[in-house]
Amino acid sequence: MTPAAAARPATPATKQIAAEFLARFGRAAAGVWSAPGRVNLIGEHTDYNAGFALPFAIGQRTYVAAAPRTDGRMSVASDAFDDAVEVSVDELATLFPQATGPGEAAQVPEWAAYPLGVAWALMALAPAGTAFTGYDLLFTSEVPLGAGLSSSAALESATAVALDELWGLSLDRRTLARAGQRAENEAVGAPTGIMDQTATLLGAADHGVLIDCRDLSTTLVPLNFANEDLQLLVIDTRVRHAHASGGYGERRASCELGAATLALASLRELTVDGLAAAETALDDTTYRRVRHVVTENHRVEETVRVLGEQGPRAIGALMTASHVSLRDDFEVSVPELDLAVDAAVAAGALGARMTGGGFGGAAIALVDAAQAETVAQAVRAAFSAAGFAEPNLFAVVPADGALREQ
Ligand code: ADP
Ligand code: MG
Repeated sequence: MTPAAAARPATPATKQIAAEFLARFGRAAAGVWSAPGRVNLIGEHTDYNAGFALPFAIGQRTYVAAAPRTDGRMSVASDAFDDAVEVSVDELATLFPQATGPGEAAQVPEWAAYPLGVAWALMALAPAGTAFTGYDLLFTSEVPLGAGLSSSAALESATAVALDELWGLSLDRRTLARAGQRAENEAVGAPTGIMDQTATLLGAADHGVLIDCRDLSTTLVPLNFANEDLQLLVIDTRVRHAHASGGYGERRASCELGAATLALASLRELTVDGLAAAETALDDTTYRRVRHVVTENHRVEETVRVLGEQGPRAIGALMTASHVSLRDDFEVSVPELDLAVDAAVAAGALGARMTGGGFGGAAIALVDAAQAETVAQAVRAAFSAAGFAEPNLFAVVPADGALREQ
């Protein structure tokens, strides 16, 4: 049932979820798994355009504790929500028939559609004859929900590695990433790409994950932030977005329209040199959406090149250029994100940008470790002067992807 895994030393977080599991279910968890949130260093809204992205997994993680049941039922509970959900495993196989659009997919409370959607997607991938034992699953997360750090992928990937092992599937990490994306697209109804699941499943300490979303190949890229005395600050604006019902689907549709009008398989086929010709073929809004994607792909490639040739201190300008493109061409920023970026750069950050899908969430700033507090204070002061709610600032470090903890 639970094959031996390299047990890691217990941490306060794993001890806590094991204790919560015992208190809630009256029996010990058979295992604890975790998956990280992620920060996208650069390459935004490129994943669903078959482009490049360079995210990294962060130290903040979502944990799941699990123990088998004997009644063929599966339950999911989270300390972030009051409503636990229980279904029979047989029912699960047909719980999410076909999503037809945002909000129409979930037969269960939205949060539960993420883990149950992963279970559902894994069942479809399992070899014939697999015995689908039911489990109690309990989740807790250090990743702020809806802040653009992909608590959704952390939840999906923690579920995926746990059930992959518990059901004895041994699927590779790319397949688990696709199962997570399928859960998000079809069980939750959010038309997101595969970047987040890939980062949370394939991330490694001190590395970014360069993803070529055309063939889903990945390359680990050394970031060397700590070696260069750099810190990556997250500025969570506390403005919350709603992917499933927000402007994400609209932007995605614009990109699809742009590619179709230009008779391209995807916007990946278009290069910066081809933009002038594209401008005459597209309406102004579609053109600006396309220009963002094309220039952003170029910025990701440049970031990888500059990291290799000059190191992380030299990538700041590319980060800030990415923000300007997301703000002006893709129009997914909000005043709080713009202020976070402007204030951080004015206070000495090497570069800053919104990260994640936009419409709220978090910005990131690359700062000299010695200046991190100065930059943080400047951002807080700017938010206060603008009458915005106080942002939540914290540092993140590139960390390992999903794994078994206990
Ligand atoms: P992000 O991925 O940027 O945090 P999303 O809107 O994509 O934002 O995903 C957030 C949603 O994912 C939450 O509203 C909730 O439904 C679900 N979720 C994430 N983490 C948890 C958790 N630990 N427990 C329960 N649900 C969670
Ligand atoms: Mg998400």
